[in-house]
Amino acid sequence: MKTSKSTLIDNPIIICGPCSAESEEQLTTIASLLKPCKIDYFRAGLWKPRTMPSSFEGVGEKGLPWLKRIQKDFNLKVCTEIATPYHIEQCLEYDIDALWIGARTTSNPFSMQDIAESLKGVEKTIFVKNPLNPDIKLWIGAIKRLKKAGINNIVAIHRGFSLYDNGKYRQTPLWKIPVELKREFPELKIICDPSHIAGKREYILELSQMAMNIGFDGLMIEVHNNPNEAKTDALQQITPYDFIHLINNLIVPQRNDTINNASLNVLRQEINEIDNIIINSLAKRMNISKEIASIKEENNLTVFQPKRWQEILEKILLNGEKQGLTKDFMKEIYEIIHQESIKTQNSIINKSNNYKKE
Ligand code: PEP
Ligand code: MN
Repeated sequence: MKTSKSTLIDNPIIICGPCSAESEEQLTTIASLLKPCKIDYFRAGLWKPRTMPSSFEGVGEKGLPWLKRIQKDFNLKVCTEIATPYHIEQCLEYDIDALWIGARTTSNPFSMQDIAESLKGVEKTIFVKNPLNPDIKLWIGAIKRLKKAGINNIVAIHRGFSLYDNGKYRQTPLWKIPVELKREFPELKIICDPSHIAGKREYILELSQMAMNIGFDGLMIEVHNNPNEAKTDALQQITPYDFIHLINNLIVPQRNDTINNASLNVLRQEINEIDNIIINSLAKRMNISKEIASIKEENNLTVFQPKRWQEILEKILLNGEKQGLTKDFMKEIYEIIHQESIKTQNSIINKSNNYKKE
């Protein structure tokens, strides 16, 4: 982890381990491979909330002694997901260090109330994931229920939201929502779970770095000794080796708890995303322009078509104006785009003419 020298506050909280505990040997292998890295909690899901009852639903309480062994043999704090008072009772019996509440549970006020009541007087750290749908009130409500039950060690986890279209990710990271949550609870630590946002291991690094840039207080990352064979979330888990590499290369900027800073970072992130959209759109436009070049050539049309250019210009000036963009600005941008199209079409047609001559 590369931290800026002027960092005044603690290092990020790092939680890692498999999505699900599969066997005692699997947990031991992962924990041994993670030894070179300083981690705050070792995670492993015992009770897995699955959509289909035919899917692997976790080993349940059978895995509690396994976690206990990891805690003792590797001197690691361990954590697992709880969703019912029974899970809590079992975890307390085995003195599991911390518990997390999954996205599906946070969405359900009845479950949250039962959990809050069962946790009364418990002094463990409770991690609360965001609900599946982007309803900040459910997240706030879940945290308030825990606070009302006297739980003070609460940490929120942003694990992305389920939208109709999640783009390249499995869940959409709506960075504004955790920033809003921080406004509601200024003292609350919020970490990011890039694994469930990504859905694919190739995006874990970029999301982890984004989270650090925005100012999150830590990361929860799924790590498996043999990710492809994992019984749950196989595509998004990374090997301990890749995890160590990720942590060593993570740049942790000076984190400042002020909301202003977080807001600035979120806005910058949005600008980056919009820039990507602009670049993709320009590339798409240029590809269409190339296709048009062939049609112009077949029909013996000139590359520059003044009437069409006039039509484009009028349209974009009008649309731009409606969006508050000045005519000068729009004209300047579109002249550059149009010039580039003409240059590209010319070179395509010239190449093809030369080819025909040969
Ligand atoms: C998990 O952490 O393995 C999990 C099931 O998470 P979520 O509740 O975010 O889907
Ligand atoms: Mn998982």
